[in-house]
Amino acid sequence: MTFDVVQSLDNSHNVSIEGAQACCWIKAKDQESAFIKAKFLVECDEWVITHFNMEIVEVNRSMFTGRHTGLKQYDLAELNGTSVYYVAWSESIEEESEFELKIKKKSNLGLYYKERKNILKKGKCLHFDSGEACDQIINAHSIQRNQSLNQIARNGHVYQISKKFHGPDLSIKYELEGINKASTFLGFCKKHDNEIFEPIDNRPLTPTNEEVFLYAYRSICREILVKSNALDLSISKACSFSQDCAEKKLIENIIEGTSVGLANLLEIKGQYDNSIKLGNFTDVKYVIFHCKEKPNLAFSGLFYPDYDFYGGHLQNLADLNEKLSLLTFCSAPMLNGWGFVIAWYQENSGICDVFINSLGQIINDQHSVEDALFRLVISCCENHAFSPLWWEQLDISSKELIFNRITEVIDPLTPIDPKYLTKGLESIIDWSFENVFTNIH
Ligand SMILES: [Zn+2]
Repeated sequence: MTFDVVQSLDNSHNVSIEGAQACCWIKAKDQESAFIKAKFLVECDEWVITHFNMEIVEVNRSMFTGRHTGLKQYDLAELNGTSVYYVAWSESIEEESEFELKIKKKSNLGLYYKERKNILKKGKCLHFDSGEACDQIINAHSIQRNQSLNQIARNGHVYQISKKFHGPDLSIKYELEGINKASTFLGFCKKHDNEIFEPIDNRPLTPTNEEVFLYAYRSICREILVKSNALDLSISKACSFSQDCAEKKLIENIIEGTSVGLANLLEIKGQYDNSIKLGNFTDVKYVIFHCKEKPNLAFSGLFYPDYDFYGGHLQNLADLNEKLSLLTFCSAPMLNGWGFVIAWYQENSGICDVFINSLGQIINDQHSVEDALFRLVISCCENHAFSPLWWEQLDISSKELIFNRITEVIDPLTPIDPKYLTKGLESIIDWSFENVFTNIH
């Protein structure tokens, strides 16, 4: 797509020009997300858009045969996801020439990466009774380790989404990680971790109310730690900008969203804490799908259901005043095989009830509930691990579909597709659920 642009007032461009056109090559699955990304990139390059050429053209590589620049930009976009090329004009320039547009760095990344290291090392005990006695913060496992991770591991290793920084290449990668490190979080001291999670760490899921409650509670605690670290990171990133710009604005929006999400989570954790103090574990509703086969995936996560399995709208996550309903899900070892555990708190549970009903409808309509739940894990839970045996035998096109889905859902510039839980990632997973355990009618 192309935009007409002029230089922004306080631009740091290395040349002064009269007018320009921005030509953007964007790898996206729909026009809206392509447009949002292109606009963002052009604004980051210190241009003001004066005219949107709304005609977004879908292109393929052969359309640029024999066109040197077009082909080069197309290949760049294929590699990096986006590429932008500006054609500018000025009376003072006599000869056509090509050069790299240089923008003054607005953020001090050195400072940010130093800060980042400290933030990621930060831990605290999330136990409601935490205090001075919590002197030994441990790497607590968010996915049950003894059986869950061990069962899918090969020589003590599983595949996880890589958390390493890969430079400008933003694509998702999986890499082998030792299960001592996989899915851990610095969210409890040794004493409290043992005390609280003992009933689920050393035994398979029965299931009892208490066990399911604890699995859900652990997912929430991990997310609180992840979210508060992410918030600190975003704040430190925003602070590293010396002036306002499109990038800073995006980060400020992310900060606002993360703060609200975190505040909501802390409130929900408060409800769970109260139940633990009272020893009352019946406040959690659950549905467990039981699979007799050996697991090939382990996961633990949560999400605020925004759309159900048919694309029906449930709650508006952008409404910062709404109290959001939360659903947790994880894999858990069971005596024969393993369970896909979905749990949610009794109070304020209307949205989750509707969400689960739509899952029931999937079964009634004889769609694959296995595909639907696999889609849920890949779309809503970055905290998952694959068995190396399973992942390595998977064909390239299935891996590609998984990469694409994760990239779509984590990219803050890609709008949410209401039907993201309705379709996609079919026939990749070979689960077969035989029983359902639940404490709801
Ligand atoms: Zn503690």
